[in-house]
Amino acid sequence: MRKNIVAGNWKMNCDMAQTQILIEALERAMPAQVNCEVMIAPSTPFLFQAFNLTKGLSIEVVAQNASAHESGAHTGETSLDMLASLGIKTVIIGHSERRDSYGENDAIIKAKVHAVIAQDMRVIFCCGEHLETRKAGNHITAVTQQVEKALFDLKPEQMKQVVVAYEPVWAIGTGETASPEQAQDMHAAIREFIANKFGSEIANETSILYGGSVKDSNAAELFAKPDVDGGLVGGASLDAENFAGIIKAF
Ligand code: PEP
Repeated sequence: MRKNIVAGNWKMNCDMAQTQILIEALERAMPAQVNCEVMIAPSTPFLFQAFNLTKGLSIEVVAQNASAHESGAHTGETSLDMLASLGIKTVIIGHSERRDSYGENDAIIKAKVHAVIAQDMRVIFCCGEHLETRKAGNHITAVTQQVEKALFDLKPEQMKQVVVAYEPVWAIGTGETASPEQAQDMHAAIREFIANKFGSEIANETSILYGGSVKDSNAAELFAKPDVDGGLVGGASLDAENFAGIIKAF
């Protein structure tokens, strides 16, 4: 059975005090019974603090990014060894903000995905189309190409360490959400594409999350779709009640 996952991407928000406040609020707001994996991705300087604050809670602390390089002259970067030494087991790679604002192309993202897997960590691999691409009707081709370029040189065994997050760029931080049908269509296409390469058993085990203005009021209808296995949540993950509401959608 593939896992249902709700992951909060805090992006570049929350200083040290706010990180503590938000985690404590989340602890209070979390339902007594959690029916999915819950992850939060605070900023890099506060990962260790978040890791300590969530000990004993059903919350995994994950990283928003990592370098594909092992060590050395990479000013401002964080290595996977460093993250591993904090206890981090999952890293988000390929977020559209990294692609669009920090020049991460398919080759860089592929190198990062492979480095995360080689570190024996799990990767949340993000993919998604821009609005013009969807309007032109090329969204499925564009997204499956991103999947192919980043993931198709992995071995089938390694695909078990991959979670895919479909995040249409036009829905990220815009308040505009893909309809459940649009999400389902894309998720089914991604799963079929993965099945054609790695086989249906692996494709059926791969969790595919939807990201793009998920909130407590729309999570249930998105998660009700058969190929939507949870959400990667930006803005709403900064509000403990709202994030807990999304978790409760499972
Ligand atoms: C994200 O950044 O991954 C995201 C989906 O953001 P938001 O939920 O704010 O659209």
